[in-house]
Amino acid sequence: MSEINKTMDPISPFPSKIVMSGIRPTGMVHLGNYFGAIRNYVKMQEEFECYFMIADLHSLTTHPDTQTLKSNVRRVLAENIACGLDPEKATFFCQSHVYETSELYLYLNMLAYKGELEKTVTFKDKARQHPENVNAGLLTYPVLQTADIILHRASLVPVGKDQEQHLEMARNFVVRFNHRYGNIFPEPHAFNYQQELIKVPGLDGSGKMSKSENNMATLYFADDDDTIRKKVMKAKTDSGPTEMNAPKPDYIENIFMLMKLVCSDDVIRKFEEDYNQCTIRYGDLKKQLGEDMVNFISPIRQKTNDILANDEYLVEVMKKGAQKSRESAQKTMELVRKAMGLNYF
Ligand code: ADP
Repeated sequence: MSEINKTMDPISPFPSKIVMSGIRPTGMVHLGNYFGAIRNYVKMQEEFECYFMIADLHSLTTHPDTQTLKSNVRRVLAENIACGLDPEKATFFCQSHVYETSELYLYLNMLAYKGELEKTVTFKDKARQHPENVNAGLLTYPVLQTADIILHRASLVPVGKDQEQHLEMARNFVVRFNHRYGNIFPEPHAFNYQQELIKVPGLDGSGKMSKSENNMATLYFADDDDTIRKKVMKAKTDSGPTEMNAPKPDYIENIFMLMKLVCSDDVIRKFEEDYNQCTIRYGDLKKQLGEDMVNFISPIRQKTNDILANDEYLVEVMKKGAQKSRESAQKTMELVRKAMGLNYF
């Protein structure tokens, strides 16, 4: 039997569902990363074979200065573990430790076209933000991401809504590869336990929470309690609705969405009613939201600090993750080279 058949499940010609996702070490982990991605990692590690990665190579596309990388990688590792990711249950590793990624990236680049890469929304955004550094790595970001995913022949990818287009591109590259060289890879799909992918909005009423843009609009797990309260109190609101049951403007909708992430049903119901009755006091709402955010974030911050204090443990996690991830990657690359006819003896 071929290697593929050995790992087949009875229904699909691919290994039973494998999960893969990554997070860039470009700054501190925030609420968007948690609700878009990490919360799903924590659940999925109980059910599936999971590969979770610190995407340090991806960070080089926009952050070429590597001076802070070593500490950023450790922080992101610690923050994910503090959120509940268990390196004993999932394979948790650094992208740059898995050299096979670069080989697969090279092969996939031959199947990706300049025109489609240039149309990617994230590429256009980043090229606009950093016109002085529109490098080829930035253009081929979705190709490297595809290599990361399919290197473990994963089909489920827990990510936020901002990654939807990348996943669509990943499926295109996979279909092209399979069509040209044989059915090696399952098609990857973005995944969230809820029906819809999530975008956690920024506190300024526009855009999304993000590691590297607009610090005041993003709640980080590293923020201290007063900073959290301050940021929430500064969230964009207005003087309140003037008609009963009026539709909510986007920035108010965003605040209610943030409440749904951390507040109790009773609290949400009360403020919904107040809004509909035109009696809402946004100062009270933000005070409550601030306290609930503090209660949610501060235990994770404290746990992160404990983990960061134990460097030996973090190095152990990285080494073990690299080994497990490379084992899986090497198996896939043998299949790939064979399918592509690159095995000459
Ligand atoms: P960032 O955009 O903050 O640098 P990454 O690009 O490293 O984050 O993404 C890590 C994961 O977090 C991805 O799955 C991404 O979809 C998710 N993510 C990032 N920001 C948000 C957000 N505001 N809402 C939901 N998910 C998000």
